[in-house]
Amino acid sequence: MDIDKIRAEFPILRRTIYNHPLVYLDNTATSQAPDSVVNSIVSGYTQTKANVHRGVHTLSMEATELQEGARRRVREFVNASSIEEIIFTRGTTEAINLVAASYGGEFLKDGDEIILSVMEHHSNIVPWQLLQRRKNLKIRVIPVNAIGELDMEVYKSLFNERTRFVSVCHASNVLGTINPVKEIIAIAHSHGVPVLIDGAQAAPHLKIDVQDIDADFYAFSAHKMYGPSGVGVLYGKKKWLEMMPPYQGGGEMIESVSFEKTTFAELPFKFEAGTPDFISIAAMHKAIDFIDNLGIDNIAAHERKLLDYTTARMLEEIPGMRIFGTAPDKCAIISFLVGNEHHYDMGMLLDKLGIAVRTGHHCAQPLMTALGIDGTVRASFAIYNTIEECDMFLAALRRVAAMLG
Ligand code: PMP
Repeated sequence: MDIDKIRAEFPILRRTIYNHPLVYLDNTATSQAPDSVVNSIVSGYTQTKANVHRGVHTLSMEATELQEGARRRVREFVNASSIEEIIFTRGTTEAINLVAASYGGEFLKDGDEIILSVMEHHSNIVPWQLLQRRKNLKIRVIPVNAIGELDMEVYKSLFNERTRFVSVCHASNVLGTINPVKEIIAIAHSHGVPVLIDGAQAAPHLKIDVQDIDADFYAFSAHKMYGPSGVGVLYGKKKWLEMMPPYQGGGEMIESVSFEKTTFAELPFKFEAGTPDFISIAAMHKAIDFIDNLGIDNIAAHERKLLDYTTARMLEEIPGMRIFGTAPDKCAIISFLVGNEHHYDMGMLLDKLGIAVRTGHHCAQPLMTALGIDGTVRASFAIYNTIEECDMFLAALRRVAAMLG
């Protein structure tokens, strides 16, 4: 693959930071967007801005077609069986909140149990805790082993006759671990329990096939997959979505309204109250095209090369290097600490050298507690990163470690 050609599509990568070329290694938090995505947003504002689904005029019909074309594209991207199963949300967080509030509010009862994992992002913990304020639910937690994989034996042992739901991530935003979601779902289904998969970190790197893994719900965000901010997707099996009550009320989600009785729109609109972020939704279509044109397997192979190269050199060249998450099956995410140096100090100094990494607890405080630390430095890679950038990162890291050490 011609990475230079790909980089040329991302103007932001030409920025300099403190007179150093930007080395953007914070892709787990958000990835950059190519020209095609930015141009779609510009044309959304300059050519087709009109509210969707309500107009007979040309602009409104064009805006509606752009949004619904994106829905068809997302359906294909995750291999859902119908577009009724594709709900646009603000992102992964809103998608999980929707399921916790609507499915959880309707079907979970006092005394029921749900299973999460210790590596979950706060977005897949707090919505369930909010539900706990309304219902007396027990949350049971799958631990991780020494290399950062879920302990599947413990997982199996957590099921009992009160277990009603499982919600786990496809890939960890801290450890990078890719979880065996198909097996996780099969085990839950053998107990008659539905599963939500938080795919925020998987969507940019892994092939998603919701029918193959048999997910009941699958959530992801466009901004982490070369797309715009403000939009994400909840896939849900039609049989559940049909039974679930609306999450929010408002325009778009109704069939008819009177003060005596309101009836709701068909799927997927029942779950899309209010004007959606139709300009970002149309731009998400371009992000999926970008990924598919390159091929997700090619993206993953390139990122794997960067991951292996950088991991080996970090361990070899930097005394006191500790990497959290060394599962063989992992995304290109390296969470690390060096000796007793504080992650925040390292991140600040790396920034002065043009290297953008993230520091802190990465919205995964229960995982930090389990690891016995309060945060890490995290470098994460995308298709546009190069071996030369890995070298710049390693050189900067050596300098910072020596300075602080
Ligand atoms: N889950 C995981 C695994 C994540 O990495 C993130 C984002 N860091 C989220 C959920 C939340 O995504 P968003 O902020 O786009 O809703």
